Amino acid sequence: MGLIVQKFGGTSVGSVERIRNVASKAVAEFKAGNQVVVAVSAMSGETNRLVGLVEDTSRSYSKREYDVVVSAGEQVSIGLLAMAIESLGYKARSYLGWQVRFLTDAVHSKARIREVEAFRIHRDLKEGCIVVVAGFQGIDPKGNITTLGRGGSDTSAVALAAALKADRCDIYTDVDGVYTTDPRMVPQARKMDRISYDEMLEMASLGAKVLQTRSVELAKKYSVPLRVLSSMEEGEGTMLTGEDETMEKVMVSAVAYNRDEAKITVLGVPDHPGVAAAIFGSLSDANIMVDMIIQNVSESGETDMTFTVPKGDYEQALSVLAGPVKEIGARTMKGNPEISKVSAIGVGMRSHTGVALKMFKALANDGINIQMISTSEIKVSVIIDEKYTELAVRSLHQAFELDKEVGDRVGG
Ligand code: ASP
Ligand code: MG
Repeated sequence: MGLIVQKFGGTSVGSVERIRNVASKAVAEFKAGNQVVVAVSAMSGETNRLVGLVEDTSRSYSKREYDVVVSAGEQVSIGLLAMAIESLGYKARSYLGWQVRFLTDAVHSKARIREVEAFRIHRDLKEGCIVVVAGFQGIDPKGNITTLGRGGSDTSAVALAAALKADRCDIYTDVDGVYTTDPRMVPQARKMDRISYDEMLEMASLGAKVLQTRSVELAKKYSVPLRVLSSMEEGEGTMLTGEDETMEKVMVSAVAYNRDEAKITVLGVPDHPGVAAAIFGSLSDANIMVDMIIQNVSESGETDMTFTVPKGDYEQALSVLAGPVKEIGARTMKGNPEISKVSAIGVGMRSHTGVALKMFKALANDGINIQMISTSEIKVSVIIDEKYTELAVRSLHQAFELDKEVGDRVGG
């Protein structure tokens, strides 16, 4: 007998009909001889509706009260789900975050889980209940209700699985797994059977929004076997696990892209200590995240500094930079929001050479100019003209033979 944590997102519990479908999935796992704990989100659209009510009521609302309101959606879905399970003839009990006791810090609207008390759930499981738990919420040390940030019920489910020492955490969603690239862009994209936590983190940071990033970090930290699968279609989904030898044999596992960045270049920066601090300090003060940074000193003793910021912060970045750029005596500044970042990701890069070369050749063959390059241990990213995003993704997907079964790839 195993212990399985299942998580269902808003779309999966979006109607009474769908809640019945979720109930039957929980019951099927129970009938297979497992103990079952189900974490759920609010019905789709509900949390947005609650956020809207908050914003309509007050412009300067306190975050404490925001949490009281927006955590309410999950109370409805857990109750309905427990009823649906009971109507199938099985025992179920639903709990809010503070009843399970998801103990969090006091950072309202984006609290972090410190501990999940597991003993009450274990008690119910022993009595033969399917336990239904509200995702997205907890309680701070003073007893205030907290929420974990939008999309937080993925994190609730993983934290629960870690605390209960579950054999598996199944995240049911509206896609049937994680793909080698965006299947809407490349029809040949393949669903992966397995992916490592680190690869998934890179994909998430590139905007492939299958799971809340924090849930993947948590799964990695506690080695929770995490599975992403569809709540509507049958299928094995994709398993997230630690790295192993088969994964390392593959040079590149996936190609991802992100259109949400913009590029800024500060030209003719005098080459002395403090200039980078002045430039990036002003962005940090404005809470603007910087992703890639490239700096190069020319023989004349001047530096050009190029970096990327989120597209939504582009205009603001240019305006907060205007002052410091003048003060440090840089020549000028220019920017381009029409770029995208395309990345090849794979833990196999740790042990293969030639990944970057293969990538650059593939792009060159399609006449795509590379504007910036950055690398990490398991990722090579390039910044290119936004209009070539699709072409680049397709060409890399093909170059690394991601349309083929792992064993059939000749290039490693
Ligand atoms: N209901 C919350 C939200 O919409 C949590 C979640 O869906 O994971 O953000
Ligand atoms: Mg979600």
